[in-house]
Amino acid sequence: MRALIVIDYTVDFVTGKLPCGDPAIKIEERIVELTSTFINEGEDVILAVDLHDEGDVYHPETKLFPPHNIRETEGRNLYGKLNETYLENKDRVYWMDKTRYSAFCGTDLELRLKARGITELHLVGVCTDICVLHTAVDAYNKGFSLTIHADAVASFNEAGHEWALAHFRHTLGADVLVAGK
Ligand code: ZN
Repeated sequence: MRALIVIDYTVDFVTGKLPCGDPAIKIEERIVELTSTFINEGEDVILAVDLHDEGDVYHPETKLFPPHNIRETEGRNLYGKLNETYLENKDRVYWMDKTRYSAFCGTDLELRLKARGITELHLVGVCTDICVLHTAVDAYNKGFSLTIHADAVASFNEAGHEWALAHFRHTLGADVLVAGK
């Protein structure tokens, strides 16, 4: 059994407060296509979405990044057509707040996947070398097999993006798929 995890594809991370910009805009269609495919096949789709509270002095990211994905702000909405897909399929996908880079950190993700017999994770979203990377490392350590869709992940840092794709393939043993292959 497999699941699709869509990581941090929100307004703030694509064009908003902490934007990846063009590389993230370019993967919109592919993320929506993959999300729709999993939904239509009756497979699990998890939307892992960064959550912060305004002025949280205890959060380690406060020192590292400008405020982003603040609770109940528009920047936390999913970006573009993915938001439409989510709103049309709310009962068929799982919205999961997360507060750290990895979707496994402080969430019920592992329990949820194991309860459903899911062993294979497909990752898409942003940023390739931050939240997708940290989620992939945790998934590897927990024994999940990994597929990364290279045409559906993006970063503001091109060198980081390329490094992470090589790391997924050569160090985490992931299938890194290019252009749907
Ligand atoms: Zn964050």
